[in-house]
Amino acid sequence: MKQIEEMDQILKDPAGYCQRLKAADSRKIVGTLCSYAPEEIIVAAGAHPLRLFGSGEKIRLAEAHLQTYCCSLVRGALEDALAGRLAFLDGVVFPHTCDSIQRLSDIWRLNIPGAFHLDAVLPVRLDSPGSQRYFIDVLNRFRKELGEKLGVTITDAALQDAIGLYNRIRAALTRIDVLRAEAPEILSGGDYYTLVRAAMVMDRPRLADLLEEIVAELEKSAGVAAPGPAKKRLFLAGGICNHPDIYGIVAEAGGVVIGDDLCTGSRSFGGQIDRAAEPIAAIAERYRERIVCPAKHRGLTTRADHLVRLVREKRADGVIFFLLKFCDPHAFDYPYLKEALAEAKIPSLLLEVEDRLPADGQLRTRFEAFIEMI
Ligand code: SF4
Ligand code: SF4
Repeated sequence: MKQIEEMDQILKDPAGYCQRLKAADSRKIVGTLCSYAPEEIIVAAGAHPLRLFGSGEKIRLAEAHLQTYCCSLVRGALEDALAGRLAFLDGVVFPHTCDSIQRLSDIWRLNIPGAFHLDAVLPVRLDSPGSQRYFIDVLNRFRKELGEKLGVTITDAALQDAIGLYNRIRAALTRIDVLRAEAPEILSGGDYYTLVRAAMVMDRPRLADLLEEIVAELEKSAGVAAPGPAKKRLFLAGGICNHPDIYGIVAEAGGVVIGDDLCTGSRSFGGQIDRAAEPIAAIAERYRERIVCPAKHRGLTTRADHLVRLVREKRADGVIFFLLKFCDPHAFDYPYLKEALAEAKIPSLLLEVEDRLPADGQLRTRFEAFIEMI
């Protein structure tokens, strides 16, 4: 599909793409570290949000600031910044989430000159009566500080427009997520990854148009595509997945990924924002309502209940937990999620990776053994 090819090209060099955006219309580029960064406010300020993942270069400079037992996402992003590969950024936003991102924020502030630095100290507990007020206060403060840094006034009208844009993007991604579960043969796992990843990099208005065109194409093929060979339906759960190759390896092993609960997957685009409400309160409400990640709290069994429900809804045969090494929030969550799946008689496999996947053959063998078992 030509729309996916356009996204693929952009993902080959996200930094270069953002620098071209900046050169074209003097747009400010703002790096973000997690989907809890309020992108609607950044877009309403006329800036472009770029989710930072680390370019995969060898870690050398970051070793002097971070222990080796920090996750590869945090080490990779810091390495890029210290090496000057992110010098084009005008600012960076650190949402207050896991310990590693919070500490990275301090290290960044002290060691990376140039770009402005903003923390969004969001509440941890999202289901308490006070969390709504607190969330709104934090976002209002963020709106003011971001406006000052960028020298603009962020109006309600601009916020409404940004909310409308993000609602379109999230509705399209949600529809694609449903379609791929119903008819996995219409979109490869690698292409699905491209769409979700592009949503963190691309010019958002262009992205919304492309995603809506893709939905229209997929709706057409869903009705007519011949079903592929019977494969085990697998569900990915966990944190950051910056490894498109995993979908191909699952396919070679005889499976197909039909859904996920990943920080870089369905959890990042779930939920719509009420356009009729006051914009900041409405943005806060989506964050409070959307399915929580392990760095936040919203009830003792919310995450397990959500995972079991999603796996059943998508008729998955098994779950692959995809965890980044040294990611404490997800590692602490894993035993209880695995137990909940076991109680629901859903088989699961744990895969812990660093910034690179283990060799293809080794992974394929593990997936084949798991698929045979289920
Ligand atoms: S678990 Fe995912 S969503 Fe939560 S703080 Fe970490 S990266 Fe962000
Ligand atoms: S949640 Fe995990 S993967 Fe994400 S930044 Fe924190 S430690 Fe790293």
